[in-house]
Amino acid sequence: MAKKLISVIVPCYNEASALPYFFEEIDKVIASMPEYAFEAIYVDDGSADSTLEVVRERASKDPQTRYVSFSRNFGKESAMLAGLKSAKGDYAVIMDADLQDPPSLLPEMMKLLNEKKCDSVATRRGNRKGEPPIRSLFARCFYGIINKISNVKFVSGARDYRLMSRRMVDAVLSMCEYNRFSKGIFAWVGFKTEWISYPNIKRVAGKTKWSFWGLFKYSIDCIVAFSTVPLSVSSYAGIGLFLLSILGSLAIIIRKIVVPESSVTGWASLICVILFVGGLQLLCIGILGQYLSKTYMETKRRPDFIVAETENDLKND
Ligand code: UDP
Ligand code: MG
Repeated sequence: MAKKLISVIVPCYNEASALPYFFEEIDKVIASMPEYAFEAIYVDDGSADSTLEVVRERASKDPQTRYVSFSRNFGKESAMLAGLKSAKGDYAVIMDADLQDPPSLLPEMMKLLNEKKCDSVATRRGNRKGEPPIRSLFARCFYGIINKISNVKFVSGARDYRLMSRRMVDAVLSMCEYNRFSKGIFAWVGFKTEWISYPNIKRVAGKTKWSFWGLFKYSIDCIVAFSTVPLSVSSYAGIGLFLLSILGSLAIIIRKIVVPESSVTGWASLICVILFVGGLQLLCIGILGQYLSKTYMETKRRPDFIVAETENDLKND
């Protein structure tokens, strides 16, 4: 019987310094799993360093290595999608190039997938050691909020490192939304998933591409992509404020009746109320704007990425 093929998908953005370490690790893993065939797909996400040359060089020597190179930087989500689209394997696994997703876990993940007969083995960080406390705090708040307002279950500390069966990959690819948020998509498609946790590991070389602001925007995108609850905030706030204004009016009328000589004072509190209501209105318009902008981008139907080169171009040279 032919060996089952595992596609290893590696999104790479400016990873020239980390890739040699990655090659070494993945070679060890491939050697330790002789019962499977492998293909490794490196997705060069418009890197500005020599990532493409490093990958090209490897592909020219190693028939198991494939690559897709983008015309510019499209982001990790697009890189993962490109990898999944070109994967031919019976299984696909996505892992980072910086060894923060240890390739050595793959045999254990494969074993678990076979034993539990599930379609996906996902990983999460067991702790947030080495992360700035403010980042951990925001991450905790984010997971708290999104799990309350979305039907999809988001696992705190979940990584994109995930092994999937072909039918799960096909399900993920059938989701054709432009604003992709893979953690949500993986959860949305369902299928039985087993979780493995491992401690936070520092990247082997190079530096992270995530700024705090970048992560913040990413979490807003996720909320917009997987929940419509914020859209109803304005209705609830409107009802609340309406009831409050009736109560306030009643209080003033009753006071006028009970103590006729009392005068209405308090412009400071009035200003506060005006600012509060004005702020709330802007917030609600802002929320509408977020959803509208996403809808606008979806209707344009732009491709998620543009491919500039693949390993097939090497053969034609
Ligand atoms: N990455 C990518 N495109 C980007 C940003 C990142 O393909 O625009 C890749 C990057 O090369 C790495 C993975 O995504 O393999 C995770 O990125 P990073 O290590 O910067 O994120 P962190 O681990 O710090 O969350
Ligand atoms: Mg990393």
